[in-house]
Amino acid sequence: MARELVHIEAARSAVLERTGPLPAEDVSLDLALGRVLAEDVPSADSIPPFDNSAMDGFAVRAEDTRDATPDDPVTLRVVDESRAGTPAASSPSSGEAIAISTGAAMPGGCNAIVRIEETEYRDASIAVTAPVEPGRDLRCAGDDVRAGDLVLRRGGVLGPSELGVLASIGRGRVSCARRPTISVLTTGDELVGPDGELGPGKIRDANAYSVPALARSAGAQVTAVGHVGDDRDATREAISGLLGADIAVVCGGVSVGEHDHVRPAFDALGVEEVFWGLALRPGRPTWFGIAADGTLVFGLPGNPVSAVVTFILLVRPSVLAMAGADPARHRGTAVLDEPYPKRPGRAHFVRVRLELREDGWHARPTKEQASHVLTSMLGADAFAIVPADRADVAEGERLEIELLPSAGMLAGGV
Ligand code: AMP
Ligand code: MG
Repeated sequence: MARELVHIEAARSAVLERTGPLPAEDVSLDLALGRVLAEDVPSADSIPPFDNSAMDGFAVRAEDTRDATPDDPVTLRVVDESRAGTPAASSPSSGEAIAISTGAAMPGGCNAIVRIEETEYRDASIAVTAPVEPGRDLRCAGDDVRAGDLVLRRGGVLGPSELGVLASIGRGRVSCARRPTISVLTTGDELVGPDGELGPGKIRDANAYSVPALARSAGAQVTAVGHVGDDRDATREAISGLLGADIAVVCGGVSVGEHDHVRPAFDALGVEEVFWGLALRPGRPTWFGIAADGTLVFGLPGNPVSAVVTFILLVRPSVLAMAGADPARHRGTAVLDEPYPKRPGRAHFVRVRLELREDGWHARPTKEQASHVLTSMLGADAFAIVPADRADVAEGERLEIELLPSAGMLAGGV
């Protein structure tokens, strides 16, 4: 009896049900790019910590300038200087001003800045030709963050600005979930490396590069990348070497061909099957199970597009969940700009380029969508999702889209 193919959403839930955040560890800021916070982070201090000047100029008492006009300027005597990092020693009395740099502490009693370009400094005095409002060019303590405010939340990914915020509140170390480890195995007698010779019937091993890169860009630590030929015992041995990582990914050999040894190896090694066979194109022969030691084990199809697509749809969310991040996808809709022929049966994840027009987002398939055409991923912004039960899609129909994780947004560093 033919097996019932599993819907991609059910498969995703089955994976996520078996995934949770890994234990947290202390991470120093210089290693924290792309890591996920395992704690809520309040600020102990206010930022800025003190009232300071937004401009180079002179700190004054605004009321001293009230009657200033171009014809009858107010003269203020400059009695001290407040520099960034070195506040003035004194507070000015009425009729006095203090030279001040951007970021320097506001001297006591002053409540406004006369900008340097709006006055002239002569004989230790400035002439003010127009009144300044109280608070002008002043940056107040706590403008950015007030002491006690929660500035970052558990589950947030640390990007450049988050790291800057942590530095500014004096947090040199933060608690992050441990990065998940991934081991990767490619299978097939036909595969050679990028520098290998293409003998008769040989092709190059694309997945040995795309899959580890996907893992790293999701924030995982790749602990091993191996290759094994289509041999039963060697396959079992190679897969046994993958277990022990948080996630093991085997590419290819997971179908029903005579030379597909991966599922029998999973079975022999006691990896318990959760599902096999998705109602998905590309990606039908995808397998998922759990090893006795808790390793999540994925058997991805060998076809290079299928491996990439199923990694993005299933493995990446498990990496994010283990790292304590929200595995939510970025979804929307777009109008398909060309017809897409399809038979009902499996959901299609079509690689599309997006374009924003006056009436919203439009999508166009990158090129031929066959699962061996890896260049169909190049320049793709999103998957356009054609549901399993749908037949042909007409030009102009609106489809759900799922944005692809961008290569520029590396989580976890490389
Ligand atoms: P399999 O899943 O092993 O049946 O392989 C399906 C197709 O993908 C075959 O045409 C393989 O030659 C090809 N393939 C398998 N693994 C890789 C790989 N690592 N890189 C490139 N192509 C592959
Ligand atoms: Mg194979």
